[in-house]
Amino acid sequence: MADSPVPARQLYIGGFWVAPIKGQYMDVINPATEQSFAKIPAATSEDVDAAVAAATAAFKSGHWSRTTGAYRAKFLRAIAQKLRDQKPVLAKAETMDCGKPIDEAEWDMDDVATCFDYYAGQAEALDGRNSSGPAIDVGMTEFDVRVRWEALGVVGLITPWNYPLLMAAWKVAPALAAGCCAVLKPSELASLTCLELAAIADEVQLPPGVLNVITGTGPEAGAPLSAHPGLAKVAFTGSAVTGRRVALAAAANLRPSSLELGGKSALIVFEDADVEKAVEWAMFGAFWTNGQICSSTSRLLVHQDVAPAFLEHLKKRAESINVCDPLTPDCRLGPLVNEGQYRKVLGYIEVGVRHGTTRSVSGTAGCCFVGGLAEVFSTAESRPYCCSRTFRCIYIPPPPSDPLVPRPPRAGAVISACPERCRRVAEALECGIVWVNCSQPCFCYAPWGGIKNSGHGRELGEWGLENFLSVKQITKYVSPDIWGWYSPPAQQ
Ligand code: NAD
Repeated sequence: MADSPVPARQLYIGGFWVAPIKGQYMDVINPATEQSFAKIPAATSEDVDAAVAAATAAFKSGHWSRTTGAYRAKFLRAIAQKLRDQKPVLAKAETMDCGKPIDEAEWDMDDVATCFDYYAGQAEALDGRNSSGPAIDVGMTEFDVRVRWEALGVVGLITPWNYPLLMAAWKVAPALAAGCCAVLKPSELASLTCLELAAIADEVQLPPGVLNVITGTGPEAGAPLSAHPGLAKVAFTGSAVTGRRVALAAAANLRPSSLELGGKSALIVFEDADVEKAVEWAMFGAFWTNGQICSSTSRLLVHQDVAPAFLEHLKKRAESINVCDPLTPDCRLGPLVNEGQYRKVLGYIEVGVRHGTTRSVSGTAGCCFVGGLAEVFSTAESRPYCCSRTFRCIYIPPPPSDPLVPRPPRAGAVISACPERCRRVAEALECGIVWVNCSQPCFCYAPWGGIKNSGHGRELGEWGLENFLSVKQITKYVSPDIWGWYSPPAQQ
């Protein structure tokens, strides 16, 4: 077994490391080598109950939920600092866990720390909102009506494997900033860094029960968490199929859920685009995170006048992508996360072939797996094909058998030298995020989310904090006079 960069951990519940009640563990597989290099606990519904109970006790104690935002901000900033200190180890663990190129994992760790710092600021700002918010004009001077933003309660956070710690940070940081207590269930395919987040929470002496981290499979740990009546909300990032299950389970308890799901987004390249720049953004949009991003712009719609030059350039650039062990600096494409995902992509390629696509890049871009780099080169490929009148379409079609694969994209991108055209397309695209003359940049200050099958609710920015707040109306009768609706009793 190769050395793990991080220590073996148990479940983190109520401020303690505890073994899973049923004593089960799962192997952690490095997708670049197919070797197991660590084990993580496999939680079951009994552990979920314990975690929700710990979070509930912490929430009810008020030691977190009723403190000031400024108090909570200190912990969030301490977590951010520890994350920065431990960046090399965390990045390595994440790369070994999910196959993400190490340069990208390091970038992600910076984003994770920035996210905690940002929500520290939002927690502080919440104090200001609660203390000096203006009265609402209700048209009657007898009443002073104000609102107060309070922590929603105990929240369940369920996250995927493609950005293991970043997707957790997008939920944990705002939830804690709001004053919620959380149970985080990361993906069983990449849980290591989320357990390290628990260790960091422990090091900064976050009050016990405020953050609980349980690892386990979707059916054994995720399902009982999303169905738990002790939660005030479930925040989920993952596939549309699972998202529907999570939303239905929460709805059965009349609890809300926010859903960040997948998508099949387009990048539209107009004829006035700079081909070299457009191709690089197209590659970034399709191959970043080994092509496993919810907002991936892996459908390219290229104006026919520029399509031949674009394709030629794309082929040349894609063939020169550095595909190798993701721990190698400068790696730009590593393995897919596991064999199941690899088989899925091969299935998409077959669908593409059946639809008459032309393979123009072979042996580099697209998919690669485990089992050694030789196999990476021999099996990897991507297929451009031509479909429409004005635009040539280059993409991997989703399998027609999956009815929930979101047809409405969650994001879109347009590349053109004409600002007016970019504005018009940005307004016309039906999605939650539009990139103009780029693809994929994401900042924790701006809202992130989809529409319809690609999810609802918004993470990040001030919208991310609202996800975990409850708005309370406080109406005060301020008139010196009696209300006077009922006539006083007749004088004796
Ligand atoms: P997934 O839906 O298989 O799993 C996501 C999480 O749900 C995991 O923690 C899993 O254990 C859990 N889960 C599985 N079954 C469950 C159940 N029945 N009840 C409760 N939880 C359950 O998704 P994945 O394969 O881990 O992640 C990839 C997907 O995530 C892709 O579709 C990708 O587009 C999407 N994604 C979306 C965003 C976004 O911001 N919208 C970001 C990253 C990834």
